[in-house]
Amino acid sequence: MQDRSKVVVVGAGFGGLAVARELGDDPGVEVTLIDGNNYHTFWPLLYQVATAGLDASDVCFPVRRIFRRQPGVRVVLGWVTGLDLDRREVTVDNDRTFAYDHLVLAAGTVNSSFGVPGVEEHTFPLKSADDALDLRTHLLAGFERAAAGRSPQGDLAVVIVGGGPTGVELAGSIRELVDKVLCREFPEIDLTHLPITLVELADRVLAPFHPKLSAAAAHALRLRGVTVELGVGVERVEPGTVVLGDGRRLAASTIVWAAGVTASPLARRAGVELGRGGRIVTSADLSLPGRPEVFAVGDIALPPGPPLPQVAQPAIQGGRHVAAQIRARLAGAPTRPFRYRDRGSMATIGRNSAVAEFPNGWRFHGVIGWVMWLVLHLVELIGFRNRASVLVNWVWNYLTYDRGARIILRHQVPPATTQLAWPGSRPASAPDGP
Ligand SMILES: Cc1cc2nc3c(=O)[nH]c(=O)nc-3n(C[C@H](O)[C@H](O)[C@H](O)COP(=O)(O)OP(=O)(O)OC[C@H]3O[C@@H](n4cnc5c(N)ncnc54)[C@H](O)[C@@H]3O)c2cc1C
Repeated sequence: MQDRSKVVVVGAGFGGLAVARELGDDPGVEVTLIDGNNYHTFWPLLYQVATAGLDASDVCFPVRRIFRRQPGVRVVLGWVTGLDLDRREVTVDNDRTFAYDHLVLAAGTVNSSFGVPGVEEHTFPLKSADDALDLRTHLLAGFERAAAGRSPQGDLAVVIVGGGPTGVELAGSIRELVDKVLCREFPEIDLTHLPITLVELADRVLAPFHPKLSAAAAHALRLRGVTVELGVGVERVEPGTVVLGDGRRLAASTIVWAAGVTASPLARRAGVELGRGGRIVTSADLSLPGRPEVFAVGDIALPPGPPLPQVAQPAIQGGRHVAAQIRARLAGAPTRPFRYRDRGSMATIGRNSAVAEFPNGWRFHGVIGWVMWLVLHLVELIGFRNRASVLVNWVWNYLTYDRGARIILRHQVPPATTQLAWPGSRPASAPDGP
């Protein structure tokens, strides 16, 4: 029997999964899919884990389960720590080596502090399921400490830096958690005017959306009681304080950094040309210039032309495209350039409020946008169990204003005396390997 061609895919995110799913049934190909986590994360709903609306297992899906019926895909748990493009080898956890005929780099991004002092030490990132659970525990534990009189109530203020979809969705969701759930459950403390502030450097939130939708989102946030600070950057972050570019100081016990990302450090390890945001410069077919057997997809890739948005669709479409190009190469056919089809964008502000826009110019906000957002996210989630669980949680939450995942993981609760310093216990960047 002819040897099967070895395809190694690094990253089981949206892009890597798409490649492996497409090639998994191909009898001429053996796929090795490597990820440092044993699960795929559905990032768009991660903020709901951080705010106790969903559990981590609702938005994370075991990678081995996804490929249970595709024996052509071998799943490897581990961080890629070395890439030797000349020898065509990938090293995992410094001790296991995998040879390849084709390599696909789909390692995504990590949080970026953009060099702002104090971000790494004193803010929460939201770039992994661990981050979401840490943030949830910190938020809930803060209310318990205030109720026990162990910290002044004023310490509970929240500042979120970054007015993109993650910042907007998180601000709306924390507001709802406080106003609709915790207010009723913490009679000891007055949470009615708990300050929640969203800080954005640009002059509007949701900058990639049409200005009318940005304005609608900011208006909806303000109506809910979120202070939206536009056109001002963050100078530095100190323990418990965000210092703005105009000199103002915002006190907060919870500071979330959702201001942006940079390509996974794996891109640097590849030793190839990098472009904006540390992304790997690719040719039009998503292969690396001079290395037709190596491809990059998703957030880590920078194809020619205007930079693609770092969202799920370019990664999914890019992954499918790369699978087709690998097949073409194995058949001795020429490869084709990648063409991204914009299918629209959505972001939610909270109950009955979301914005949605489509390439044909259709724009929606309010309840219609929200229903669209709900349906699309349910459809895109992986796995029937996860969809059913999310749907049940959403219906329950909508009808009762309850959030079932209000669990404080005790081992993560910091001592009250270190409350303001504690956020720095986790770095703002996701791990790149040991
Ligand atoms: C909080 C949040 C909310 C978002 N909301 C939306 C949204 O609403 N809509 C939308 O379209 N997009 C959203 N995005 C963006 C979207 O998730 C990304 O654009 C998309 O995931 C990119 O896909 P990817 O395959 O390039 O990378 P990812 O999906 O990030 O996957 C990368 C994978 O590589 C793995 N990995 C990284 N380094 C290594 C290594 N060294 N070794 C082994 N494995 C490695 C990671 O563990 C991860 O599983 C959001 C992102 C975040 C963080």
